[in-house]
Amino acid sequence: MLAAPKIDAFLPPRRILMGPGPSDVHPQVLAAQARPTVGHLDPLFIGMMDELKQLLQYAFQTRNEMTLAVSAPGSAGMETCFVNLLEPGDTVIVCRNGVFGERMRQNVERCGATAITVDNSWGEPVNPQQVEDALKANPQAKYLAFVHAETSTGALSDAKTLCALAQRYGCLSIVDAVTSLGGVELRVDEWGIDAIYSGSQKCLSCVPGLSPVSFSPKAVERIKARQRPVQSWFLDQSLVMSYWSGGAKRSYHHTAPVNALYALHESLRLLAAEGLEQSWQRHKDMHQLLKQGLTGLGLEFVVAEPHRLPQLNSVYIPQGGDDAAVRKQLLEQYNLEIGAGLGELAGKAWRIGLMGYAARRENVALCLKALQTVLG
Ligand SMILES: *Cc1c(COP(=O)(O)O)cnc(C)c1O
Repeated sequence: MLAAPKIDAFLPPRRILMGPGPSDVHPQVLAAQARPTVGHLDPLFIGMMDELKQLLQYAFQTRNEMTLAVSAPGSAGMETCFVNLLEPGDTVIVCRNGVFGERMRQNVERCGATAITVDNSWGEPVNPQQVEDALKANPQAKYLAFVHAETSTGALSDAKTLCALAQRYGCLSIVDAVTSLGGVELRVDEWGIDAIYSGSQKCLSCVPGLSPVSFSPKAVERIKARQRPVQSWFLDQSLVMSYWSGGAKRSYHHTAPVNALYALHESLRLLAAEGLEQSWQRHKDMHQLLKQGLTGLGLEFVVAEPHRLPQLNSVYIPQGGDDAAVRKQLLEQYNLEIGAGLGELAGKAWRIGLMGYAARRENVALCLKALQTVLG
């Protein structure tokens, strides 16, 4: 017998989350998550799931029937798109301009498919001309995959143009919208996006752990026409769909994360009440405020103005600034978390998030005041 450990309840402090995610969770979303758990086949829960689907369709601006939340974080949404669509031997054009494009490439290879990479430097958006060149040079390509909002750098790519290119060259598009959904303009149907995944903890003001995804009718046809079953049982959408769309006949696939789905329902309800376009505008407005302050402190942005993400502000660490010490002071003295640089930008930049509920005037003011004090 191991002796029972004596451990107190974990009581986290109320941090202000202005990093690359998770971001501040709306208090109403936290409250929703604490409501009583019901059975995941309870008729009332099924009604909630149906509403959740409608809310996801609104957030994505899509009529796609196959729209749902994967019961796992954004990375699982990424994997869901790749394992369901790709078959061994397929060719995929993968755009890399940061950490997450490289993860897409790894997914492609693990599916036994071939990745043709289009590389742009960190902080740059994906270059449509290079993508077109790659599409021309690889007529066998079936998919174009790219990250809409590169959280590792703060660069926004032109998803509308890239998806139009994919269509022109007969490819389906696979889009990472983990950081873009709710934070910047995104129109799945209008732009012709075929497979898209996001995450609950970035611009949706929700807790981490869920990944909204959506597949176009063309993508669904591809999935139905597969030669071999999806290698992942858990992420196989043909099995999951009978759970999400079965209505009263819904049958067990896995136990839905019931309370986390309450949270997502509440966060998307709040998004719908605010209005999607109003949410995009709020992120822009808060970014403008923060930018003025950061520029006033002498900090320089990593990404050039036209491609900057409002919800993820990467700034170079000033000369003599101690990366870890500054972040530690912000956390300890102000309960404020900002993000460290990732990959090529590790130790060189900070990533200041303005995502979802964190994109508020009081957060901007606190962050600027804290940085000003800490940087002296
Ligand atoms: C955060 C993020 C992911 C991964 O999401 P997790 O929820 O951490 O698994 C993928 N892509 C982008 C662009 C992200 O910002």
